[in-house]
Amino acid sequence: MTQHQSESSTWAKRHRRALTTRHSHEDVLTDREFELLLEACSELPSPRDFQARFICLVAGRLGLRGGEISHLTTDWFDWDRKLLQIPQHEPCACGYCRRQAVQEANHCDDLTEDKAVESRWHPKTVSSARAIPFDLSLRLELCLERFANRYDSFPHSRSTINRRVNEAAEAADLRGRVYPHCLRATATSYHAYQGVAPVPLQALMGWSDLATAQKYIRISGTATADALRQAHHR
Ligand SMILES: [Zn+2]
Repeated sequence: MTQHQSESSTWAKRHRRALTTRHSHEDVLTDREFELLLEACSELPSPRDFQARFICLVAGRLGLRGGEISHLTTDWFDWDRKLLQIPQHEPCACGYCRRQAVQEANHCDDLTEDKAVESRWHPKTVSSARAIPFDLSLRLELCLERFANRYDSFPHSRSTINRRVNEAAEAADLRGRVYPHCLRATATSYHAYQGVAPVPLQALMGWSDLATAQKYIRISGTATADALRQAHHR
C-alpha cells in the first residue's frame, strides 16, 4: 500500500468509526420524554418510586453520574448555599469500589490494590469534585429535602441505579435506550439549550476539557442563534 493509500484508509476508518460509534449525547431525552419519565416513576411501588424520581432528577437535571448518586450522602448538601458538593473522597469499600480499585491497580504499575481501595470512593477525575446548585427549580429542591428526610445516604448499590432508571423508562414506555449516563447527557443538553455558557457548563458537569461543553452548546444552537440575532437585529 502506498503512503497515500494508507493515509486515506486510516482517515476512512476514523470517519466510519465517528459515524457508527454511539455517544450518550445521541440518547438525550427531550423535555417531553423527561417529563414522561418522571411521571412514570410514581407508577413504581414504594420506595422504588421515590428512589427512581430522585435518580432521574439529580442525573437528568443536575448531571450526577451513577457512581456519584450511589455514593452520595446528605453531608454533601449545603442547605445555606443550596449547593450539592461532590467531594474528592468519600471512604467506601463497596463491591463497585473494589472492582474499580482492581482495574485502577491493573492499569497503574506503582499502585497496589490496597492503596487503590483506600482512595475509593473518588469521582471520575479531579475536576469532577464540584459544587452543583440545586435551587434551579422548586421541584428539585423539594426532592432533595425529601431525600434528606428519609435517608442519610443513597440506600443501594451502583447497579440499583441502573435498575431504577430501567424500571422508570419501561413504565414510561419510552423508545430508545435510557440509562444513567444518557440522563447526565440530558442534563447537559437541557442547560446548553437554556443558554448556559461553556465555562459554567464545564464546571457544572465536572469535565476537565472545555471542548465537551462547547460541543453540547454547538449542538443546541442556542448560542449561535443568540449571537446572530444580536448582530442582525441591532
Ligand atoms: Zn463504593
